[in-house]
Amino acid sequence: MRRKIVAGNWKMNMNFEEGLKFATSVDRYFRENPPVRGVVILCTPFIHLSGVSEILRDGKVALGAQNCASEASGAFTGEVSAYKIKSTGAAYVIIGHSERRILYHEDDKLLNRKMVLALNSGLQVIFCCGEVKREREEGNHFIIVKRQIEEGLFPLGAEEVKNIIIAYEPVWAIGTGLTATPDQAQEMHQYILVLVKYKYCIKIADELPILYGGSCKPSNAAEIFSKPDVDGGLIGGASLKKEDFIAIAEAL
Ligand code: PEP
Repeated sequence: MRRKIVAGNWKMNMNFEEGLKFATSVDRYFRENPPVRGVVILCTPFIHLSGVSEILRDGKVALGAQNCASEASGAFTGEVSAYKIKSTGAAYVIIGHSERRILYHEDDKLLNRKMVLALNSGLQVIFCCGEVKREREEGNHFIIVKRQIEEGLFPLGAEEVKNIIIAYEPVWAIGTGLTATPDQAQEMHQYILVLVKYKYCIKIADELPILYGGSCKPSNAAEIFSKPDVDGGLIGGASLKKEDFIAIAEAL
């Protein structure tokens, strides 16, 4: 019952021209080979949003941003609000990526504020959670993810959660070449769904997609996606190579 999704996160890569060229070729592939199952999303830097939106229009690939401001509008130099993102034609925004949490010290209270603004602007949110290496080694990964979910997600009402996608991204697997085993991904996804079920209800949990992120590549995607509670992937490095990104989307 849960939607199947593959989302590419370009991070701070590709200049404007490179991004448009890349989006054009991904768009062309999926117009000719529409995804049989699931949604394909490109999450680009802000500078690409309106240009890529034109390219993807009426096609088979959706558009997302990688962050949004924690304020609605006003004197916040350099920030981009959820409402402005939505006005480009984007439908999704990533919130709480580990690079935002660690490098920009974004905590779950702030992330929840961003999520509310994004949802109120009509965006769907890809909310990231996941433990760092030390937390996994100390056996605290469930406690860490529970706290992120409780503080970031649970202040939202049931209606709001319908527009959330969770991405479980163990930080030790992001960009490192290390991947969680399919069983490690499955057990955490299953755990998150249990938390969601008790907080909201079975129906909400049954409809909440949970993506895996962390060194997902064509060679491991099919096995990870085969797990019952893994509904797709959030893809970093491999989303910058057209063939790899397409192969991962096809693995759905
Ligand atoms: C990410 O940054 O969300 C990610 C999953 O990166 P990578 O696929 O490169 O590990």
